[in-house]
Amino acid sequence: MISPLIDGFGRVHNNLRISVTDRCNIRCFYCMPADNVVFMKREKLLTFEEVERFVRVVARCGVNKLRLTGGEPLVRRDLHLLIERLAAIEGIDDIGLTTNGLLLEEQAQLLYDAGLRRINISLDALSAEKFEQVTRRSGYDRVIAGIRKAQEVGFDPIKVNAVSIRGVTEQEIVPFGRFARETGIEVRFIEYMPLDADNAWEREKVLFAREIVETLSREIMPLVSASDQPAHAPATDFVFADGVGRIGVIPSVSEPFCSNCNRFRITADGKIRNCLFSLEETDVRELMRGEASDEEILEAVRASIAGKWAGHHINAPDFVQPERAMYSIGG
Ligand code: SAM
Ligand code: SF4
Repeated sequence: MISPLIDGFGRVHNNLRISVTDRCNIRCFYCMPADNVVFMKREKLLTFEEVERFVRVVARCGVNKLRLTGGEPLVRRDLHLLIERLAAIEGIDDIGLTTNGLLLEEQAQLLYDAGLRRINISLDALSAEKFEQVTRRSGYDRVIAGIRKAQEVGFDPIKVNAVSIRGVTEQEIVPFGRFARETGIEVRFIEYMPLDADNAWEREKVLFAREIVETLSREIMPLVSASDQPAHAPATDFVFADGVGRIGVIPSVSEPFCSNCNRFRITADGKIRNCLFSLEETDVRELMRGEASDEEILEAVRASIAGKWAGHHINAPDFVQPERAMYSIGG
């Protein structure tokens, strides 16, 4: 291995999130606009060959964990073929996928056979009505069918991600606590972040992680810290006191995990982002299409990582929301 990707604060970056599309089959209000979304043109998207090359280059510097995301990654045709290619790269030992689950029932087996094992399914509510309010589309039953299929096929771990929004998802906390206990699937509550396309985020709309832990502890039974907290994970994990049911909270706004961050991202159109909230990007698509050498690509990645801020500025008066919304960055 050549020297790792280290930023100015000594953080080693071994975790790459790859967005494969900005398209999506639903319209969550905290992510996408309701209508008239202007999507990237097909020729702007990195091809599977380009994604594979990029991963080969960064894997030489110790990147060993990948997560595919979007937009909705399962709308990218033949995604399982990309997974096969990535799983075969030397040094890559962990590939995950974050999906809204709508197309999972039909693709789960193909994805598993391609080498995918870890899957996060985003679902903010356990009722069709609330699902439609948040996503502005129907499809709740398909997500539930996708989760069942993922269990049947043998994905492990399966996690459910739920965004926590004050005034919208309070009533979902307890049902999700019961769901975690009944299914054995970890439910992770993510604080609503200012990455929505409509610029409607306000701090008052964030339902804080500590409130969720308090509600579950009061309404179901006390939550205790999990003894096996994964290092570098943004989530703090808890289990119910009787050992049944695992809950994670991701307090991105109230207690940012920036000092421990080991991630960077590549957008579907080939821009490196060293942080979800960065205001600058590095264009590796043009480097690749301009016949740059692997060394030149690596230099561009190193420079991007070296310029990473100590942390995001959500809680500071000088915070500027990035121009790209979550669906276009790759959450
Ligand atoms: N479409 C896939 C999905 O929803 O799982 C993958 C992409 S989505 C952008 C990745 C994750 O980001 C989802 O879990 C989603 O709930 C989360 N997300 C999107 N916008 C967010 C926001 N403003 N604040 C917090 N999480 C957000
Ligand atoms: Fe689509 Fe995921 Fe954004 Fe929802 S959060 S609109 S499912 S990309």
